[in-house]
Amino acid sequence: MKTHTRAVVIGGGVVGVSVLYHLAKLGWSDVVLVERSELTSGSTWHAAGGMHTINGDTNMSYLQSYTVKIYEELERESGQSCGIHRVGCLYVAANEQCNDYFKMERARARHLGLDLEFVSMEEVKKINPLIETKHFISALYDPNDGHVDPSSVTNAYAKAARNKGAEIYRNTPVVELKPTASGGWLVVTPQGTIETDVVINAAGLWGREVGAQVGINLPIMPMEHMYVVTNDIPEVAALAREIPMTIDFDGESYMRQEGKGLLIGTYEKDARHWSVDGTPLQFGHELLENDLDRITDAMAVAMERYPCLVEGGIKRIINGPMIFAPDGNPIIGPVRGLKNYFVATGVMAGFSQAGGVGLAVAQWVIDGEPGMDVFAMDVARFGDHVNKSYVLEKTMENYRRRFTITCPNEELPGARPLKASPVYDKLKAEGAVFGATNGWEYPLWFAPKGVEPVEKPSFRRSNAFPHVAAECKAVREQVGLFETSSYAKFDVAGKGAEAFLNGLMTNKLPSKDGRAVLCPMLTPKGRVLGDLTVTRLTGERYLLIGSPTATEYYMRWFQAHLPGDGSVAVRDVTAEWMGFSLTGPKSREVLSQLTTEDISHTGFPFLSARQMTIGLVKALVIRVSFTGELGFEIYCEPKSQRHILERLLVAGAAHGLKLCGVRALNSLRLEKGYGSWGREFSVDYNAAEAGIDKLVKLEKGEFIGRAAAAAALKAGGKRKLAIMTVDVSDTDPIGNEPVLQNGKVIGRLTSAGYGHTIGTAVALSYLPVDIVNAGGKVEIEVLGEMRPARILAEAPYDPSGARMRA
Ligand SMILES: Cc1cc2nc3c(=O)[nH]c(=O)nc-3n(C[C@H](O)[C@H](O)[C@H](O)COP(=O)(O)OP(=O)(O)OC[C@H]3O[C@@H](n4cnc5c(N)ncnc54)[C@H](O)[C@@H]3O)c2cc1C
Repeated sequence: MKTHTRAVVIGGGVVGVSVLYHLAKLGWSDVVLVERSELTSGSTWHAAGGMHTINGDTNMSYLQSYTVKIYEELERESGQSCGIHRVGCLYVAANEQCNDYFKMERARARHLGLDLEFVSMEEVKKINPLIETKHFISALYDPNDGHVDPSSVTNAYAKAARNKGAEIYRNTPVVELKPTASGGWLVVTPQGTIETDVVINAAGLWGREVGAQVGINLPIMPMEHMYVVTNDIPEVAALAREIPMTIDFDGESYMRQEGKGLLIGTYEKDARHWSVDGTPLQFGHELLENDLDRITDAMAVAMERYPCLVEGGIKRIINGPMIFAPDGNPIIGPVRGLKNYFVATGVMAGFSQAGGVGLAVAQWVIDGEPGMDVFAMDVARFGDHVNKSYVLEKTMENYRRRFTITCPNEELPGARPLKASPVYDKLKAEGAVFGATNGWEYPLWFAPKGVEPVEKPSFRRSNAFPHVAAECKAVREQVGLFETSSYAKFDVAGKGAEAFLNGLMTNKLPSKDGRAVLCPMLTPKGRVLGDLTVTRLTGERYLLIGSPTATEYYMRWFQAHLPGDGSVAVRDVTAEWMGFSLTGPKSREVLSQLTTEDISHTGFPFLSARQMTIGLVKALVIRVSFTGELGFEIYCEPKSQRHILERLLVAGAAHGLKLCGVRALNSLRLEKGYGSWGREFSVDYNAAEAGIDKLVKLEKGEFIGRAAAAAALKAGGKRKLAIMTVDVSDTDPIGNEPVLQNGKVIGRLTSAGYGHTIGTAVALSYLPVDIVNAGGKVEIEVLGEMRPARILAEAPYDPSGARMRA
């Protein structure tokens, strides 16, 4: 056994071997995998082996398509069969909502170059003669899907990794992990200790236990999962060729052929967690006790869908534990506060996802960044509110909803309300319809008196539309008030604060107290990692404000780059500063009634920040806005927020002040062409493409990503952020739809929505530079319909920014 290596992967399930393979493939051949028992000893051995590319998140879909396409290559490299049955998958819809979901997925697949196609019921019957088509209204077919043999795949990854120099030690449990002074790890096993630069926790069902060895609580929980294999069925035996897998969303089941019988699985509503307090160390190749009663209803529906099932009789029931994260996505990446420690766990669909997970994690380990935006899987998408109780509630919700269609405008109720500002009840009484981000409740829109504050889930324009329109109108013509407490806020303080921030931010920091600037951050490869408003409170104290979703993500980045000399401290102060955004042409008049400060344009210019008394309490006011109108962000202590709200409502009444939500904010910022974190500002794009060159000050000295940004800016981007108007009828694009020109896909939307001021839909997308510069017409596929769109030379609303600077 080696005593020194570059990376140790803990766990020999399908995820661990994929990480190992990809490390070796990308050039790190001196790597090791340690497995407690035999390979596949966790969830992997009893999986049904189904593989699918379809996923609500586009980058996840991309990585899934990578995963399902890798098996042939693995077979070639390893000489080991993966037991590939590329029989395709039929996704069947029994209602219009599911049909809309298919249309959305079909369009997104077009951008990824996948072959997802709608097929008629006659074709369905031809490719799966066992199905009773009268229950369905549409079907999608993906020829790339199918199933593989779990053990064979695991062994193929292992062999291919070994061929590239990696080593695998079986029956070698990791019992302790000790950090070394040089930032590496000692991996302690009964067979000996290995010193390594990097550790990757891929311990699947034991991810929690291996995490506990370094003092972290990973947000994952095992769930029981059952599938049934039937006896031989004459209709199946008589088939000329293997039928495709079939997923029936309405019936909540998946089905595939298993020999001359069928295999049916379901994500039952009456679900069960397993081993809540920890996975037993001895657990291995055992199954759990069956509980057929919990899946009887779904099986009864399956018998209607596939009538020949009635003749089958059950040959075998598999009930095994599988690991789940609160949102059902994998949990990968470096862990905040631990040097050179990565996770690759929470993978509940290993045969669809392990390849992509392995690729992203290996790139992250080797390059310091994952190669694409994998935030949907990033361990840093969970904030400090994610404790065991939260994980229990959300994993139960997620498991039960595995085949339930979630609409783009739908907010799931699990574990809510969790974090709420002091004005939550007051806003609720005013008609607020809430969403949740990073655990915080925030208003999506406000239902006027007499209107029920409920938004109907839909892929199309929802009942919120006219009310959002009214909110936008108030902001453009009078004044709107947004509650913004959920925004991520960081206090950066100390003698070294300025130098620390200068090393991270691309823009020059404010040179005076009471000034704010917009500051992007880049990865070492010059990709857009973040965008923050940085306000200088004093020379040694800065307040940073950014997207709520990125709170933990930013904290991880800050912490990883703190100097070791204690000269600067970063604190997440999100819960200490509640917020409002007061914006619109009348906002100054409203605010001036509540303060004696000079807030005129000259007394308080754009990007100023000042502590002032609002009503009877202290607040920090910053002159910025995301709507394109004159605006003020107001931050105060939690105890003062109610007071400020009441005073603003009273002062605003005479000026038509309206409470507004994030749906309106999105429409308003789109009309201005403002990018948003996680959409336009993401590691998928560099500074040249994102058009943030004015905020990248190469002359200011060294900062992370500077050399790459200089090169990118010099070369110019191949793509450029384009703003378009889209002709729509009653359905708006929402983001991720493909953009086509002359029938060829040229990009995908990063964000889109209806522009209530300009009276048409507006969309943002990274498109080839020459196409953007030429302007002209493109098409956007919105729920199956090609919609004409026009590339604009500038934002359709107030392109000079005069209104905001008024
Ligand atoms: C009934 C059932 C059906 C399923 N069907 C499908 C399907 O059709 N398609 C699909 O994609 N997915 C399916 N899954 C899910 C799939 O099995 C998992 O996504 C996948 O196996 C997860 O792999 P993993 O490597 O993350 O974890 P695991 O398979 O749990 O592997 C973890 C490994 O880590 C090892 N380990 C743990 N602790 C230590 C330690 N301290 N030291 C060293 N080694 C350690 C374990 O022994 C184990 O081998 C199914 C799951 C179940 C339960």
